[in-house]
Amino acid sequence: MSANTVSSNTRATRAFVIVGGGLAGAKAAEALRGGGFDGTISLIGEEGHLPYERPPLSKDYLAGKADRDSVFVHDQAWYHQQEVDLRLGNPATAIDRAARQVLLADGARLPYDKLLIATGARPRRLADASGAHYLRTIDDSDRLKEILATGSHLAVIGGGWIGLEVAAAACQAGLQVTVLESLELPLVRVLGPQMAQVFADLHRSAGVDLRLGVRIHEILQRGGKAAGVRLDDGTTIGADAVLVGIGATPNTGLAADAGLEVSNGIVTTASLRTSDPDIFAAGDVASAFHPLLGEHVRVEHWANALKQPAVAAAAMLGQDASYEELPYFYTDQYDLGMEYVGHVSGGYDQVVVRGDLEARQFIAFWLKDGRVKAGMNVNIWDVADSIKVLIRSGQAVSAQALADPGRALSDLVPG
Ligand code: NAP
Repeated sequence: MSANTVSSNTRATRAFVIVGGGLAGAKAAEALRGGGFDGTISLIGEEGHLPYERPPLSKDYLAGKADRDSVFVHDQAWYHQQEVDLRLGNPATAIDRAARQVLLADGARLPYDKLLIATGARPRRLADASGAHYLRTIDDSDRLKEILATGSHLAVIGGGWIGLEVAAAACQAGLQVTVLESLELPLVRVLGPQMAQVFADLHRSAGVDLRLGVRIHEILQRGGKAAGVRLDDGTTIGADAVLVGIGATPNTGLAADAGLEVSNGIVTTASLRTSDPDIFAAGDVASAFHPLLGEHVRVEHWANALKQPAVAAAAMLGQDASYEELPYFYTDQYDLGMEYVGHVSGGYDQVVVRGDLEARQFIAFWLKDGRVKAGMNVNIWDVADSIKVLIRSGQAVSAQALADPGRALSDLVPG
């Protein structure tokens, strides 16, 4: 036995290991202690930083409106007080299920009674894009911040959430911004054409050069940095820096190598239990069965990483627990703030708008067979909970009543 190994036979207390030092990992440690677990908790992080929240990295932190301390889930003292054994900058390299140990990059072998995998996702890479920026970590955000402070033109590849939030921050910092999106509208896969148009108009009215349906031919290089983009039609866009935001890939390697079931994420039950009863998964990496939606859902948004760990922790402690929150996310771009709740993977046949699209102050509802599947409130607040009730009810709702601002949403659910 190496000095780094503690035999599970000689341990007096139970050991829970959390692999993944992001929001989900930190929240799991918090929920385990909150749930009365007094055994060992080890939290393994690849980055050297304390666990932090990611939404500010493309919003207020990037824009210089939130200070560095505000992004961390807890300060160092909290982990000490809670007796969480933090192993940062020391990624897990393998899970030995037979020995019930997690192997770390420094050679340590950590025994576990229960294991949570909360390894998140990583940015999809664009081929031949050396010198381009990606945004996932606080270090990435710091590098972009520098560009916002010193650059004059930013090219953004991908008009998704990262691309548009950074475009807004860069535009507001006074940079010329070009967004290059392969689809006919930004966010169109998530929001559909009518609502995607709202975001296209928003960015164009702020001065962003939004180019849609384009194909990237090559990333132009200057002095080891990406300094522009050439499109398939020969157009070139010169820039001080290029940001690539073309989606994310779940970090399933450890789970797959350990023989756990993986299919677009680590497959779990509603209790966030993987195909190994002692191993759980939460956050971006988990494809969890959702009892209300009746399918496995993997959600790459903050709220999921915030709330799933409490369920995983309860299940790790042997309690009945089931994650049944509806997917939720939000964005802030310029003077537009929005929240989206629900899931339309089964498609929709109608979008109903309540409010003023032009003024960007409205609620949109996605309906299938007269039932609300998702809702998005734009610059209207305190309605997300009512939208959740409409979705959860599963009952048909009058489109006319939904569109009528004079009708309280809370009155629309029969019974
Ligand atoms: P994303 O939201 O999936 O958007 C990526 C966009 O880039 C898609 O429209 C995609 O089109 C497009 N694209 C893909 N390949 C391209 C190419 N070669 N050239 C031009 N466009 C291309 O992903 P993201 O913005 O990179 O964000 C990463 C993850 O972080 C996502 O899961 C996102 O939900 C999450 N995030 C969430 C928030 C929030 O909740 N507010 C904020 C930031 C990030 P296709 O669909 O055709 O691939």
